[in-house]
Amino acid sequence: MQGGGGQQGGDGGRGRMGGRGGGPGDYCVCPSCGARVPHQRGFPCYQRYCPKCGTKMTR
Ligand SMILES: [Zn+2]
Repeated sequence: MQGGGGQQGGDGGRGRMGGRGGGPGDYCVCPSCGARVPHQRGFPCYQRYCPKCGTKMTR
C-alpha cells in the first residue's frame, strides 16, 4: 500500500510567460551608462559590450 506521492506533474506550468518571441522586454542594459540594446537570442548579455562606453552589458 505504498503509492505515496503518486501524483507527479499534473499541470506542469506550461507557457508561463507566453513564450512568443519578438516582444519587447528582452534588453541588455549597460550598468555604467544605462544604454540598452535588444537582447539577442543565444547571445548572453554579459558577452555583449555597450556600444557607447564599452562596458559589459547586463540585464
Ligand atoms: Zn555604456
